[in-house]
Amino acid sequence: MKDFKQYWLESKSIALPFHTEDKSFSVYELTLHCANCDKKVKEIRGEVKESFGCIEIHMVGVCRPCKLITGNRSRIYPKTNRYLTLKDDGWYEGEIKQNIFYKFIEKVLALLKKICYII
Ligand SMILES: [Zn+2]
Repeated sequence: MKDFKQYWLESKSIALPFHTEDKSFSVYELTLHCANCDKKVKEIRGEVKESFGCIEIHMVGVCRPCKLITGNRSRIYPKTNRYLTLKDDGWYEGEIKQNIFYKFIEKVLALLKKICYII
């Protein structure tokens, strides 16, 4: 991956949710933790794209208190429910946490409740 600072300057905010072409898988939320303080980074930029059944995510985020840019590169394989993420010493494999989807459903329900309340 390019230099994180350069990538930050060249990137845009990531438009979410991201849906695969066949709509079988969606990314609703991305989280990135600061490499220094480990807090969730609020400002994230980068790119999410699909190619050959794999969703590639390149993201960088700024932690203002640490004045540090943290980057992450991941590949999601929806058909096998696995992902790969790049760390300092290589690629790590893991299982996709489906609760990301449930969190989204909760948000929608919360929003619907608000809308119902207002009406
Ligand atoms: Zn930090």
